Amino acid sequence: MGEESRAPTVAELARGRVAPAASLIYQPYWWEAAPRRPSSDALPKVADVVIVGSGFTGLSAALTLLRRGRSAVVLERGVPGFGASTRNGGQIGSGNQKFRVKTLIALRGQRKAEALLREGVEMLAYIGRLVETEKIDCHFSRCGRFRAAVRPEHYEAMARDMEDLKRIAGVESFMVPRSEQRTEIGADVFFGGSVLPGDATLHPGLYHAGLMQRIADAGGHVIGNAPAEAISPADTGFTVRTPLGEIACRNVVIATNGYTDGLVPELGRRIVPIGSGLIATGEIPETVFSALLPKDRAYGNTNRVFYYFRTAPGERRILWGGRVGRLAANTSPKAFRHLARDMLHVFPALSEVPVTHAWDGQIGYTYDEVPHLGRTAQGVHYAIGYCGTGVSRATYFGHKIACQVLGDAEGRTAFDDLSFPSFPAHPIAKQAVPVVETWYRIRDAAKI
Ligand SMILES: Cc1cc2nc3c(=O)[nH]c(=O)nc-3n(C[C@H](O)[C@H](O)[C@H](O)COP(=O)(O)OP(=O)(O)OC[C@H]3O[C@@H](n4cnc5c(N)ncnc54)[C@H](O)[C@@H]3O)c2cc1C
Repeated sequence: MGEESRAPTVAELARGRVAPAASLIYQPYWWEAAPRRPSSDALPKVADVVIVGSGFTGLSAALTLLRRGRSAVVLERGVPGFGASTRNGGQIGSGNQKFRVKTLIALRGQRKAEALLREGVEMLAYIGRLVETEKIDCHFSRCGRFRAAVRPEHYEAMARDMEDLKRIAGVESFMVPRSEQRTEIGADVFFGGSVLPGDATLHPGLYHAGLMQRIADAGGHVIGNAPAEAISPADTGFTVRTPLGEIACRNVVIATNGYTDGLVPELGRRIVPIGSGLIATGEIPETVFSALLPKDRAYGNTNRVFYYFRTAPGERRILWGGRVGRLAANTSPKAFRHLARDMLHVFPALSEVPVTHAWDGQIGYTYDEVPHLGRTAQGVHYAIGYCGTGVSRATYFGHKIACQVLGDAEGRTAFDDLSFPSFPAHPIAKQAVPVVETWYRIRDAAKI
């Protein structure tokens, strides 16, 4: 391999010194073990339910419908699994990470906040059960999560929040002071942290592939290169138009999250897509690797614009994620430079390790930072807006929205009666994302 075609090191990527021909693969590391495959299914003319979007939301909804005797067709604009569901970090929490307990209570009131928090715990339990009952081989591991405090006061605030979470939702956790944090992480830049032992990780590519297989086994269809272009009311429900033809159905579920477009304008106005990305290192020498992440957990920090990391299942690689600036597939080292810098800040020993993969995807943000499910005035069902933590939430919401389509009481959730605000001046909000993010970064750095 020539000098220019070797993978850049973490230090080279961090400095922005990457040869144009460097062998950095701009595609999810997960796709190596679970390559995306174009579907060969023809578009059926009729189905009970058409689902738009083939990520965890759409597939989970399809699986529930199929298991309960309905026919389900999933339409996907790209190859099946094109979106965030095969691009994410595979870190799974209880869906409670977005707000401190006290903040949520202040925003929603005591009773609603408690109900939302308890349901967040159920989301983590649900995905664990699904992987087990459907026998999906995807490295699901209850490895726990270490959340590192980037400032001393974050440690104290986290400790109080963990107590609230235990009292209200029964979530187990423990605090690790700075003096003992080397038992959790081979780094000294943090001020201790919290451990949530019940949190988990999985291999998103294999999880997605497993769901696809179960759907195929149950007689469902996931059709790629089939963007839903229009949804029109019809006598018996809806007609969905695609370039492959039309399909008639009783119900439609929108499961497009960060890739939501103008198909259903009232949903488009309620979602702002935000870019998020990861880099993967090559193999790390054993002597370095064993000291970095001794418990092999999911890891994150307490900043507003935070980074997170983990190992690749069964390999001495680290996957490191955070925000990336632009939308649409980034194929320039510049877009991932800050991730390498953050990695070096935490683990300077990784400077000469190669970076083999870098990729991004879109997360779907809502104005109130809460995911939403329900039905539009036209009668179209939807489950969207996971704000960057969607592995458990999308799986759970997919199941719930399928139950709602069926009119099953199991579909009831504490999220049902939340109003779904649109973004004021939506096109401006979309443009303003980098500005808001920069402001948060400044606040993180300036310790405001
Ligand atoms: C880089 C990255 C890292 C992340 N890390 C984590 C993590 O570690 N833990 C965590 O909990 N969450 C994480 N997330 C978030 C999580 O991946 C998402 O919340 C979740 O996968 C959303 O699933 P979904 O099925 O709703 O949407 P997606 O998986 O994004 O699927 C939506 C699909 O809809 C399709 N689509 C859109 N419009 C149409 C149309 N008109 N017709 C047909 N198809 C259409 C898109 O092509 C896309 O494939 C991360 C996200 C990203 C991008």
